[in-house]
Amino acid sequence: MRRTVTLIPGDGVGPEITDVVKTCISALGVDIDWDIQNAGAAVIEKEKVPLPDRILDSIRRNKIALKGPVETPVGKGFRSVNVQLRKALDLFACLRPCKYYPGVRSRITSPQGIDLVIVRENTEDLYAGIEFMESCGEDNPLLTFIRENSGVDLGCDTGISIKPISISGSERIVTFAFEYAQRYGRKKVTGIDKANIMKLSDGLFMQAAEDVSRRYPDIAYEHKLIDNMCMQLVQFPEKYDVLVLPNLYGDIISDLAAGLIGGLGVAPGANMGKEYAVFEATHGSAPDIAGQDKANPAGILLSTALMLDHIGESDAAVRLERAIATVIREGKAVTGDMKQAGDPHPPVGTRAMGQAIVEKIDSL
Ligand code: NAD
Repeated sequence: MRRTVTLIPGDGVGPEITDVVKTCISALGVDIDWDIQNAGAAVIEKEKVPLPDRILDSIRRNKIALKGPVETPVGKGFRSVNVQLRKALDLFACLRPCKYYPGVRSRITSPQGIDLVIVRENTEDLYAGIEFMESCGEDNPLLTFIRENSGVDLGCDTGISIKPISISGSERIVTFAFEYAQRYGRKKVTGIDKANIMKLSDGLFMQAAEDVSRRYPDIAYEHKLIDNMCMQLVQFPEKYDVLVLPNLYGDIISDLAAGLIGGLGVAPGANMGKEYAVFEATHGSAPDIAGQDKANPAGILLSTALMLDHIGESDAAVRLERAIATVIREGKAVTGDMKQAGDPHPPVGTRAMGQAIVEKIDSL
């Protein structure tokens, strides 16, 4: 079936790596019309904002988007494009598969067998943006409220961030994690929080996770505290499968897990909601190598494989992932960031690595 997908090339290396995506999709023979929408630093001068409404209109129309990295200028009063997209489209789930591909440099001595999927709640928690500045020298009704209602006397030089976690938000994300596990034949979901300390916020998450888990008797469920989980992931990452976490812990664990499998350069990602899904590489725009044909296209290509699977092109998704994995394993046609000291093969450029992947698509 022919379909239209919104393509946001993004800033920096974004256009180079999304060009490779287009080439690979053609090689796979998947019928996609790209609705190309520029965003970020590239459009601010002309359109005055990094995320013009036409982009949201395009995603609402097409339901699916593939996004290169986008820069949000710092200190110029713009809200992050990524945060705006999540809010405007209610992309409540951040999906970050972290799988080790042989040939990738990892500091872990035996990374084989790492195949994690991190499901992070995207809308609640300390990221909700409810913050209050310290304010000495004037009446502070919030501090008075806290003193009178919790008995805690905070100094007037205390800044405060509020951590909202709801039963409905927790059930929604945990259900997403179990549905994902069921669809992809995963065996175990681990719910992670700090419910022993934050009983009234993380406690709700823990309770909701346990309640939801009972609806999926075929998938094992276990609960872990976030501090223990960090150690477990470094020591025994291969024991874990799907992890589901509130926003802040999910943010941190996603990067930790990406580090285990060789870094953000090879970690795909997606932000998903009930109606829309935006697939993206997890690295940034890499301005230091932009326009130099040096960027590794593996992250955005693995995100493309996730997208293909999501739109029902599972066969193409498998072929693309296999082609990427083969090129990485052979190590001959990969970009400089994947090279080890003493490697006999010189690094290749973004386009050449893309071409090597296309050849594998054709030959495997
Ligand atoms: P970055 O990921 O762009 O770069 C960090 C380092 O990793 C650099 O040395 C870079 O050259 C290297 N790198 C990144 N991607 C690579 C690739 N595909 N191949 C080879 N090397 C790669 O992080 P940063 O420098 O902190 O951020 C730069 C800009 O990107 C900022 O404006 C930031 O806001 C934006 N950003 C966007 C997203 C997104 O859109 N999802 C995510 C992170 C950062």
